Amino acid sequence: MTIEHIHNWINGEACEAADRSWIENINPATGEVVNLLPRSNEEDAFDAVAAAHDCYLAGGQGNAGAGGLNAAQRCDLLMAVADAMTERVEEIAAAESHDSGKPYLNALKGDVPRSIDNLRFFAKAAVAQTTPAVSAGNSINYVLRQPLGAVSLITPWNFPLHLLTWKLGPALAMGNSVIAKPSELTPTTASILGQLFVEVGAPEGLFNVVHGYGHEIGDALVRHPHVKAVSFTGGTETGKIIATTAAPLLKKTSFELGGKNPSIVFADCDLAQTIATVARAAFFNAGQVCLCGSRVLVASEIYDDFVDALAEQAILYRDQIGPLVSREHREKVISYVELAKQEGGEIIAGGDTYGDENGAFFEPTVIIGLDHGCRTVQEEIFGPVLTVHPFDGDEHALELANDTDFGLASSVFTSNLQRAHHFAEHIQSGMVWVNDWNLRDLRVPFGGMKQSGVGREGGEYSMSFFSQDRNVCVRYNYD
Ligand code: NDP
Repeated sequence: MTIEHIHNWINGEACEAADRSWIENINPATGEVVNLLPRSNEEDAFDAVAAAHDCYLAGGQGNAGAGGLNAAQRCDLLMAVADAMTERVEEIAAAESHDSGKPYLNALKGDVPRSIDNLRFFAKAAVAQTTPAVSAGNSINYVLRQPLGAVSLITPWNFPLHLLTWKLGPALAMGNSVIAKPSELTPTTASILGQLFVEVGAPEGLFNVVHGYGHEIGDALVRHPHVKAVSFTGGTETGKIIATTAAPLLKKTSFELGGKNPSIVFADCDLAQTIATVARAAFFNAGQVCLCGSRVLVASEIYDDFVDALAEQAILYRDQIGPLVSREHREKVISYVELAKQEGGEIIAGGDTYGDENGAFFEPTVIIGLDHGCRTVQEEIFGPVLTVHPFDGDEHALELANDTDFGLASSVFTSNLQRAHHFAEHIQSGMVWVNDWNLRDLRVPFGGMKQSGVGREGGEYSMSFFSQDRNVCVRYNYD
């Protein structure tokens, strides 16, 4: 059987890596090779930056965007790509499923429509935005909101197309050109997107894709002087490496990093809804979600019943989730379950591998009995593994919720309005859901506190990140 090759997209052309090296892309559900992707090196990365920079220069570096597209033209372009994606939704969903292992229907009903929404949302935002003007008697100030230039988007493997389009939409809407570096574990949908941009007639160099290992090309995409901003989603340690390179060069950066998010369950919640939501928060996408609720804090008076119900839900999820993204990642998850046993944890559901012997499946797992300060509870596992802890009273719950270096998201389940608002105010996380998890509106800020990130994405927050506002003051009278 011939194995397909996917390509980089640089300056509107599909290319191999300069030294013609390839990486095998493995389907984690079966262990089969999906395709081969370029193992790009610094030369390829610099070529992509040059293409993006030239595209930006072609726009004249002023109000016009990269490639000379004004806001209405950028809106049309993003809409055209969204339409093209809609026409090929099954193909794109299948590619996402093969790369990441996630069930096809999840990609078809979730990842791909959300990616299309991302582009449409920011396409409309491009033409809807206004900038302020301030009149002061003898002068008027107005604001020019202009593109930055070439920007690098570095994205992870858990929601490959969704997280790429979440950055790509605002970056292009604001008139920048882009170099995208997807994870080498899930490269295919970025390549399909590169092709779609060419098919809809995007200016050359507007959207470039460079495949390869982060440790081999990531640095080049951060430090090149023509890269004006870096938007990164991934692990906290990688974020720190990028920050170390970018800070002395004074580059604009945005970091969406890891989480160890609490689900806090009070006795006055809607129990049936809460059990279902807490399980979804922990096991959706096999727990490979930065937002996932992996620390479950439960009021002691309902603890025993809640734990039993959660264990039952975990068993049901076994048939609904896909594998972990790779066997290497599964080894990491297994090592945490072994650590949990050493730390005194009791596994009451899951805890083992299953499924295709060449795949990377791991059972939804519920662990109780751990001290809240131990490593299993404090470190991000990024798999279908949750720990449950009883609490006595509101202040104890809040203390446990905030006992973490991370601060991305949290969920509070209660029917007490006063308590809900108190927790919303005092939990140290960038996002708080009350009686839900991962209910998203694209306009609101998305991002973390503490070790979970710096900066916010979403609506105006993303538009602001991918642009620079300049003030012009006009004196019109000398009286
Ligand atoms: P990584 O941090 O390993 O990788 C993210 C991206 O960065 C990949 O494209 C990776 O390439 C690249 N990269 C790796 N090293 C470097 C480097 N030195 N310079 C520049 N780029 C580099 O994360 P994962 O892909 O493993 O994703 C899982 C992590 O991401 C989890 O910790 C999770 O919490 C976090 N995450 C956070 C989200 C958020 O919104 N806060 C959302 C999703 C995930 P390569 O794959 O080749 O290594």
